[in-house]
This record gives sequence, structure tokens and C-alpha cells, in this order.
Amino acid sequence: MKSIREWQETITEYAVDHGFNWTPSDIDTMLLRIHSEVSEASEAARDENMEELAEEMADIFIRLANACEVMGIDLEAEVAKKHSKNRLRQKLHGRKRK
Ligand SMILES: [Mg+2]
Repeated sequence: MKSIREWQETITEYAVDHGFNWTPSDIDTMLLRIHSEVSEASEAARDENMEELAEEMADIFIRLANACEVMGIDLEAEVAKKHSKNRLRQKLHGRKRK
């Protein structure tokens, strides 16, 4: 199984091979593409279409991994770092209180 680091490279090689030569100056467009996939996932969830939801979740990861690779971000390292930070938070951090 590939690591997140390896997926970043594989996904980006595929994107480049298919003409998507993103550069760091394209970050706004790349973030909008991620947002678009989140919207598609939301629609699949509303439709209770689990197969479509799973595919859209993969699309989100693919777009995210590609954007991170283009921006020189090691997503695997950032996830590990952020998860460690999150573990220090109180239970239900950020949850709206009634
Ligand atoms: Mg999609």
C-alpha cells in the first residue's frame, strides 16, 4: 500500500501526464476544485448514495494530495503534526454550546 507521500507523487504525475500542469500560483483554483468535490460529496450524502459518496471522498483526497504536492506540502507529515496538536485539545473542542 502506498503512503500519503507516494500518493501525492503518483496523483501529481498522472495530472501532469494529462495536461494539468498546476503551479503554486494556481492554488486558488485548486482549492475551488477541492471545494467542488466536497459539494459533490455533500450531494451524494443527501441522496444517501454511499457508493457515490465514497467516490467523491476519493476525489477530495486526490485533489488535496495534488494541491499539496504542487505547494510542496508533505501532507502525511502535516496530518501527523496536526493530529498530535488536536490530541491536546479538550473534548468537544469547537462544538457549539447550547
Ligand atoms: Mg467528483
